[in-house]
Amino acid sequence: MLEMIVAKGILKRLKYKETWGKELHRDDLIYCPRKAYYRIKGYTPKLDYQTLLTFLVGKAVHDVIEEALGYAEIKLQYEGVHASIDSLYRGCPLEIKTTTKAIFNPYEIPKEWIEQLDYGILFTGKHTGYLLLFDLLTKTIVLWRRRLTDSQLKELRRTLIKKRNLILKAVEVDDVDMLEKHPEECSTCGYKYICRGEEDGETD
Ligand code: SF4
Repeated sequence: MLEMIVAKGILKRLKYKETWGKELHRDDLIYCPRKAYYRIKGYTPKLDYQTLLTFLVGKAVHDVIEEALGYAEIKLQYEGVHASIDSLYRGCPLEIKTTTKAIFNPYEIPKEWIEQLDYGILFTGKHTGYLLLFDLLTKTIVLWRRRLTDSQLKELRRTLIKKRNLILKAVEVDDVDMLEKHPEECSTCGYKYICRGEEDGETD
């Protein structure tokens, strides 16, 4: 079946997520921490075709933009947490996002994107970061600048350490229930077959 071939091809692209393996990543502090738990414990995510295709399209567009701008990912590590930021702009972290929803105000930016940028600012020891938004439908490009104060960075560091320690503790004592669920992420989660006992994952 063609969709099976496509899904397997996409999975090869996804392998980098699986190879994240035992270490913690910035996204583990932002998205559902139980996903980090299952990944670190070695469970294989099972993703449906729609999620795989959505990932592939987003990744392909992102790669094209990075190449066009001559940017390359920068790998960072801070307090034992890994992150890859898209690039630097004026010496500060730059994250590139694509969307099909016109975003004209900062409060319309998904909070997860802002959190990613904030961690990028913290990891690079800066106070400023940039978010480059490409709206694929309206063909609009917007550059947002974000600045954090010393106290905001201090608070973010505290949050990072708290979340990091909780995930590591849950892994150490084999207790996923120490970690909160993010129900809004469950529909596209590759671990729901374990977490929620649903057997509708389609790839392995
Ligand atoms: S199924 Fe939901 S709660 Fe469970 S790991 Fe996935 S996103 Fe988190």
